[in-house]
Amino acid sequence: MDQIEPIAQSTDAGRSTRPLVSRLSAPVADRAEFLRHLLEHLDEDAADSVDPDGETRLMLYDCDMRLRFSGPTLSVVVEGREPGQHGVAKGVVAYYLQHILGDDCPPLVWSGDGADTRELAHFREMRVVSSIQLTPHMRRVRLAGSDLARFASGGLHVRLLFPPQGRTPVWPHSGPAALPVWPEGEDELVTRVYTIRNIDAEAGHVDIDVVLHDPPGAGCRWCRETRPGDPVGMLGPGGGEVGKAERYLLLGDETALPAIARTLAELPDDAKGHAFIEVDGEDEEQSLRHPVGMQVRWLHRNGAPAGTTTLLEDAARASVAPGSPPPFVWAGCEFEAFKAIRRFCRKDLGLRKNGHLVVAYWRRGKRQDDAPSADEEA
Ligand SMILES: Cc1cc2nc3c(=O)[nH]c(=O)nc-3n(C[C@H](O)[C@H](O)[C@H](O)COP(=O)(O)OP(=O)(O)OC[C@H]3O[C@@H](n4cnc5c(N)ncnc54)[C@H](O)[C@@H]3O)c2cc1C
Repeated sequence: MDQIEPIAQSTDAGRSTRPLVSRLSAPVADRAEFLRHLLEHLDEDAADSVDPDGETRLMLYDCDMRLRFSGPTLSVVVEGREPGQHGVAKGVVAYYLQHILGDDCPPLVWSGDGADTRELAHFREMRVVSSIQLTPHMRRVRLAGSDLARFASGGLHVRLLFPPQGRTPVWPHSGPAALPVWPEGEDELVTRVYTIRNIDAEAGHVDIDVVLHDPPGAGCRWCRETRPGDPVGMLGPGGGEVGKAERYLLLGDETALPAIARTLAELPDDAKGHAFIEVDGEDEEQSLRHPVGMQVRWLHRNGAPAGTTTLLEDAARASVAPGSPPPFVWAGCEFEAFKAIRRFCRKDLGLRKNGHLVVAYWRRGKRQDDAPSADEEA
């Protein structure tokens, strides 16, 4: 057994001078089945070695993770250097344990480094600075906060936490499983997932571009009504990033426009491929910076309700020449389009998990709180 060392000293850069080590154990009846489920959820490249009868090693959030079974008991050791990444890695393991074991999962308690912290490394309290109208149905809210460097990489998305109006916000804190413990009752928070469109960690602000849709939801209402100085919570970042590829195919409706805009701006200068963005009409288009080899095409719904067309799937199919090597496909859109594009990627293009990232951003007729599959990743 590895020794659990005393609480680590942090360096100025936030990294520990020695490894941070934490442990957790839980009963798991079918070890092979459990590992299969776990690896299905994680990045394909996360596993260094998999052995249900010996040790399984994973790399997650810059942390080394070791899983071992002794009879029906699974022991997990997470070792890292940076307290934030270490805390998030522990939370991810606990999340998947709860998800996979379901009702059989006992209360999970981490021991070792960070066990006594209530701080959630991936949470920041932000303040609204300003909001401006970008196009008839897109509004930009600027949020200010401190220590934002971790939000500049490792995923484009954040979960915004809206406190009840007129109450002093009570924010989530880290529980024994390193997962957020949420306020309840009158302090309950409404949350929605958005994309960081711009970030300036040094200046301490991020921009969130919000679609004003009809019928509206809590997210669009917040965006319309929020005033400078209002508090809002931010958790993240999350979601996958676009991998390195010979060619790219980016697809999205207006909810994914911020993610596509940021991806295009961050792709290497010699990147090649297509980006198709579905919006209602010309007045919803934005000027986007992109590599010359990336062709950006706007697809207009021309009054058809959002989430009812096959424009993205049709454009995707037409853009890939038969017999040519498939591009890396990234897509963010309504649930039905998500299913069609995911099918196209897996069945028609034969893409593996690391060759596509297709995400349902919203589901027609369902609020985000009612549609857990809305942030399901393919
Ligand atoms: C990873 C990720 C990143 C995202 N990034 C962004 C982003 O940067 N900007 C952004 O605006 N959205 C983004 N979204 C989508 C956004 O989270 C959803 O649209 C969410 O439902 C908005 O919440 P709401 O409270 O406004 O509406 P909800 O309360 O969730 O829904 C209310 C009603 O509005 C409908 N609805 C929701 N979204 C739309 C829409 N776009 N058009 C028409 N009807 C809709 C629902 O079907 C429902 O009937 C992202 C989603 C994910 C998963």
